[in-house]
Amino acid sequence: MTSPANAQERPKWTLVIHGGAGIIEKSRVTPEQEAGVRTGLEAALEAGSKVLANGGSALDAVQAAVQVLEDDPHFNAGRGAVFTWDGINELDSSIMDGRTRAAGSIAGSTTTRHPVALARAVMEHSPHVMLSGAGADQFAREQGLEQVENSWFGTPERRRQLDELKARQANWFDVDLKYGTVGAVAMDSQGNVAAATSTGGLTGKRWGRIGDSPIIGAGTYADNRACAVSATGAGEYFIREGVAHEICARVRFKGETLKQAADTVMAETRELGGTGGVIVTGPTGEMAWSFNTPGMYRGKASSNGERVVEFYGEQ
Ligand code: ASP
Repeated sequence: MTSPANAQERPKWTLVIHGGAGIIEKSRVTPEQEAGVRTGLEAALEAGSKVLANGGSALDAVQAAVQVLEDDPHFNAGRGAVFTWDGINELDSSIMDGRTRAAGSIAGSTTTRHPVALARAVMEHSPHVMLSGAGADQFAREQGLEQVENSWFGTPERRRQLDELKARQANWFDVDLKYGTVGAVAMDSQGNVAAATSTGGLTGKRWGRIGDSPIIGAGTYADNRACAVSATGAGEYFIREGVAHEICARVRFKGETLKQAADTVMAETRELGGTGGVIVTGPTGEMAWSFNTPGMYRGKASSNGERVVEFYGEQ
């Protein structure tokens, strides 16, 4: 962790990432898990920072960071996604460009290796914002995006979690005790912001359940006039609160700092019954996170040389 003397100056670019929130406490995370998650978050920060340091866009940076986490089986996105009740993987993702408020999202994709790349293709190469299921994957094939067998996403640990959920007739949150959705928000050297989120959703989900992650305004939002947000948590509550848009609206209309807005909205979400967290950045260069769970896998980097990865309650 570095915290250089110039950390208070307005940075030229910023990047904040998350790998899920939940009952993440030192006593529950094994050293192997901790090392694996840390390596994954550092690799994602590195990928996104490289884009931004080279003058690339916030949009490219958030996609680059999320794709690293989609390929990493420690996180509930892409490879390593949780299983549905029927024992397959259905992936949700979204991306948004704060410059134009263009957005793309997909729900229930089953064969596209990088769901965030598909969300971006929807934004840039279709007249739509949101595609779902077989149609989303058909569009991915037409766009030449890499396809894999659905079994490529599954891991033995995720299978064990589904088996445990069924055996205990447990609620989805009782099994793994955390959400593993991934996301990134960034501001680039042009002052533009972007956000992206990717997830397998909830263990044992059924009936085509879709959470907040692919819902623009709930799990993801980006607006140069305010901020960029990516969320992780109990999607149903995040949808009802309109978490990501609500944070941006408070910043835009009430003039709150990103941290104030994020803390208020997470407290309101908790009042509804929703647990989880958010990451935020904005054109001012402020970076913030807020969570109402014991921990959140998270990291941030900026042109000022900051580079932080944290897991547990406010550190
Ligand atoms: N928000 C995701 C969902 O409800 C879950 C997560 O954050 O892990 O689908």
